[in-house]
Amino acid sequence: MSQTQTKTHELLARDAEHHTGLWHPDIVFTHGDGVKIYDSEGNEYLDCMAGIAVASIGHGNKRLARAIAEQAEKLIIVSQAHASDTRVEFYEKLFAAVPASLGLTRVFMASSGSEVNEAALKWARVATGRGGFVAAKRGFSGRTLGVLGLTWEPKYREPFEPLPYATTFIGYNNIAELEAAISDETAAVFLEPVQGEGGMHPADPEFLQTARELTRERGALLIMDEVQSGVGRTGKFLATEHYGIAPDMVTLAKGLGGGVPIGALLMTDGVAAKMPAGGHGTTFGGNALASAAAVAVLEEFEARDLIRNAAEVGAYFQERLRALNAPQIRSIRGLGLMIGVEFKTKVAPIVAALRDAGVLVINAGATVIRFVPPLIISKDEVDEVVRRLSGVLGRSA
Ligand SMILES: *Cc1c(COP(=O)(O)O)cnc(C)c1O
Repeated sequence: MSQTQTKTHELLARDAEHHTGLWHPDIVFTHGDGVKIYDSEGNEYLDCMAGIAVASIGHGNKRLARAIAEQAEKLIIVSQAHASDTRVEFYEKLFAAVPASLGLTRVFMASSGSEVNEAALKWARVATGRGGFVAAKRGFSGRTLGVLGLTWEPKYREPFEPLPYATTFIGYNNIAELEAAISDETAAVFLEPVQGEGGMHPADPEFLQTARELTRERGALLIMDEVQSGVGRTGKFLATEHYGIAPDMVTLAKGLGGGVPIGALLMTDGVAAKMPAGGHGTTFGGNALASAAAVAVLEEFEARDLIRNAAEVGAYFQERLRALNAPQIRSIRGLGLMIGVEFKTKVAPIVAALRDAGVLVINAGATVIRFVPPLIISKDEVDEVVRRLSGVLGRSA
C-alpha cells in the first residue's frame, strides 16, 4: 500500500470511531479549486455534486475566502434582534437579485434549508389561522421533525411518525389532485419548482399557475421550496421566475452562501405582518459572517455573469448528454444546471464507475443521476464530464 493510501485508511478509521453510522465514507477530500476537488491520495475529480448543489461558485474561491476572513476579523455575530452593516448590505444585494414584480420584500434568515422551511410553516399557520398542508409526492423539504411531514419518501418519514401535522400528498404536476386537495383547512401548498431529491422533475407551468390561482381563491398560501433550485441554479435567480407566478413565500439555502451555512425565507409584506413581534427566531440567523459570505457569492455572480452561465452551459450540458444516444438512458431533463439523467437500471454502479473515472455525482432516487455542478462550470469541463460518462457507458462521445 502506498503512503497516501495508508494515510487515507487511517483517516477513515479515525472518522469511523465517531460517526453515527448514518453513512460509511470511503473517501477523504482535502481541497478543491473551481470545479475540481481532490482526495487525500491526490486524485482529481470534476465535482458535479458540489456538496449537493451548494458550492455554487466552486471550491477555493478567492473572493469568498477573503470576504469570510475579513469579516471574521471585524465581527462574526450579533443577535438576530440587532442589525449589522454586513446584514444590511446582504439584504440589499439579495433583493436586487429577486425581481420586484414578485412582491417578495421581506426575509427571515436562518442557517439551513430545513430551518427556513420550518419557519415558512409557522408563518403560513399564523397568517391563515389554518393547520393543513398540501405537498407533492416525490417532494423533499428536509429531515427535521417539523418539515418531515412535507417530505414524501416513506423511508425518511415513517420511522418518525407521528408527525406534528397531516399532509395531503398529491401527484406532482397532477392538476386534478391539486384541485381536490386544497380545502378551507389548507394553510399552504408547498412545492419545489423543480423536484431535486425526488428525481429532477421540472414543474409543468400550468400546474404551478393553477396552484397559484387555487390557493388565492381558497385563502391558502403558495410556498415555493427553492432550497435547491434557487440562487441561479436553473438559469434564473429563482426557478419560480420561469413560471410567471408570484408565490407568497420562497425558501433559499443551498447555493446562497457558497458553502457557508445560511438560509433565507422570502415573503411578502402581507405575510410578514401576520407574525407577532418575537414570534419566531434563531440564534445564528442573519449573522455577519454568513451575510458576508452571501454578499461575496452574489458579487461573484455579477462579476462572472453566472446566472447566464448556468442557463447556457446547462442547455449545452443537456444537449451533449442527448448526443450520447446511450441505450442505457431513459430520459434527460432539468433546468439550467439542475440536470437529471434517468437510466433504465439502478444507477449506483454508474455513480461508482464515474467516481473511479474522476467525476463526482449523486443519485436522485434509485434510477436517476443528478448533475448539480458549481455554476462556474465551463463548456470544456462539461465536454470532459460527458466524455468520461461516455467511457463508463462504453460509448464514444
Ligand atoms: C436540501 C433540501 C432541503 C433541506 O435543506 P437542509 O439544509 O439539508 O436542511 C429542503 N428542500 C429542498 C428542496 C432541498 O433540496
